[in-house]
Amino acid sequence: MALPYLVKHIYNNATEEVIRRGKKIHALGNVELIEHDDLMGNVIFRVKDDGYVTFYKVHIEQFKDPKTLSLRCTCPYNLSEVCRHKAGALFHLQDMLDKNLLGDKETLYDQKHTVVKIKLLDLKLFRMLTSTETYDKGQEYLRSNTANLLEAKNERVVAEVDFEGENHRVVLQKNEERNFDTSCTCSSETAHPLCVHKVIVFQQLLKNHGPAYFDSIRNWDKEKNKLLALYGYSLDDDLKNKFEFTYADGKPFLRVLDMSIKRVSLNPAANLRPVHSELMVTAADTLSEPLPATMKLGLVITFQQLQYPYTQFELVQGEADESDSKYISKTVKLDLTKFINTEVFSEDDKMLLQQIRKLMPSEVSRYLNRNSPFSGIWENIIQQHDDELPEETRHLINEYLHPKFKKIFTELNGNPFVFHLSNNKSFTTANLEQASLSDQFISPEFEISYTNNQYIVDCRIKLPTGELNISDNLNDSHFLFQHEQQFFIWKKPEDILLVEKFLPTGKLVIEPENWSKQLQDFILPLSKEYGVHFTNVKKEEVKDAKPELKILLKEKGEYLLFQPIFNYRGYDVTNTDKEKIFFPIADKLLVIHRNIALEQEQIRRIELLHSGFVKPAELNVLALKGKDVLKNNWFFLFIDAVKEMNIPVFGFDKCVGFKRKRCIKKQLVLFIYRCS
Ligand SMILES: [Zn+2]
Ligand SMILES: [Zn+2]
Repeated sequence: MALPYLVKHIYNNATEEVIRRGKKIHALGNVELIEHDDLMGNVIFRVKDDGYVTFYKVHIEQFKDPKTLSLRCTCPYNLSEVCRHKAGALFHLQDMLDKNLLGDKETLYDQKHTVVKIKLLDLKLFRMLTSTETYDKGQEYLRSNTANLLEAKNERVVAEVDFEGENHRVVLQKNEERNFDTSCTCSSETAHPLCVHKVIVFQQLLKNHGPAYFDSIRNWDKEKNKLLALYGYSLDDDLKNKFEFTYADGKPFLRVLDMSIKRVSLNPAANLRPVHSELMVTAADTLSEPLPATMKLGLVITFQQLQYPYTQFELVQGEADESDSKYISKTVKLDLTKFINTEVFSEDDKMLLQQIRKLMPSEVSRYLNRNSPFSGIWENIIQQHDDELPEETRHLINEYLHPKFKKIFTELNGNPFVFHLSNNKSFTTANLEQASLSDQFISPEFEISYTNNQYIVDCRIKLPTGELNISDNLNDSHFLFQHEQQFFIWKKPEDILLVEKFLPTGKLVIEPENWSKQLQDFILPLSKEYGVHFTNVKKEEVKDAKPELKILLKEKGEYLLFQPIFNYRGYDVTNTDKEKIFFPIADKLLVIHRNIALEQEQIRRIELLHSGFVKPAELNVLALKGKDVLKNNWFFLFIDAVKEMNIPVFGFDKCVGFKRKRCIKKQLVLFIYRCS
């Protein structure tokens, strides 16, 4: 994926204005690192505002994992999750990570996709982004050979390079950030972002066409469409007397000629037009009289969408009764791609309108474009209903839509203005059926049984009204689960792809000869995250086994980590595992019940050996600063203490940095000597 999750977090949670100003804050150098805790993954930045001489503190916590990332800013802004200072700090943090300025981790590059931060083609930069040897090899090659260009348009070059008897395909493309996404089929280079093949193509383009070559193959139609989309138009429309393009520095600028044309308040920048022209409002519902002063928005769940995940929220407006419990007039469907007069809505409804616009297919494509390494491809694909999208794309779509849907489910739970439009019915008031959104999020559960010499995995969900198989869903899109007129949404976006694996029957059949492998590779990992029940599968339960502790040493930045591992009858578990652990042995299952209390007690004994132990909740380890480990012979005493307790310690030989940095210390030399 082209976009790192820190940047993705900005795009998902900030307005266009905040993104623009966040970039500015970062570019002005207004972000300064004041604290960094490598172990916890926390940083604190001091950020100077771009408009005022005011400083704010931005705390970014647990940034190493997108699931735990959390942000705080001391400024008063609260219109969206991310303010411009957080955005500026995130851009800055990503930049530091890219340049390896945080921690001392070596980056390994996969030539399939690397991003290089260059704006114009430049020999000096190529030299910096690869090894001297590779750079020279590239120059040498170009003296008597050339790469074969297969494609050069839309700021994208595809080439084939015959080099040292191998043929590799190189793709270079400018991305949304104006940097380059690069790809090569080789795996010849892991220490630098550019392999020899990429260097050859870059150098050749620079030599033949100059530094600004990629700008010269830019498709301005795409840019023009982005500008027009701000007003709900595209190049396909008749623009006469409405818009005109002017050019400055070779770039198009949009001029609005007809001043009555208003901007669509959110910018669905991609050029997708509304999909169902045939489903537009029927004559009976068209607006003929002026709008009354107040209007109520209603949400309509439809499944006529042609694009994954095949469901869409639409909005209607109408007049409601005094107690705001039902419509008293016919409703009119809103065209979200066009300007909508929001003056007639309550504040809540104005917010809802914004939220629903974010779910439009054009916004989804925009997100995909930003996140696929070779953006632009998506726009050219017209998805057929029966074409299955690759899992990665489906995952991206779910990742974008799921949290937004979930928020709406929470907010509109119990709201009487929620409707469902059955498939193949036209969009009229009479066809809208009352529906409800449940704020109880669902998770799949699995029941495994053995019948007729086969193992059957049944994917089920528990609803407040009872248990169902996922194939009992009343609609075709498994993004939402429908039971009668009640709609449910999954707890996590990952649930959706998992559930899709079980379709259409809701069951997975495993032949006995594959059982052992499937159990190990699929079912057991599944049981760590979800409820997995075995009905009549042979199993042996072990309830009172004693855990035996051993400690694995690991290095992490300036810390030495002590990871407890518990062994139950020869099987290792770490304390992130579930309370019941399954191990397959031959044709049956061994179910070990952990003794958590005893495990905790053992960890406590280790913890007592130093008052400086840190216990980061997410990592399930004990951590001690390197300098504390070495102070006053502590490590030496520790080794003796655990030996006395009969607790094996291992992994020290892998703590290379620790040894390298500290082995001048006598005690460690002694320790290494004693252990070997
Ligand atoms: Zn702020
Ligand atoms: Zn290569």
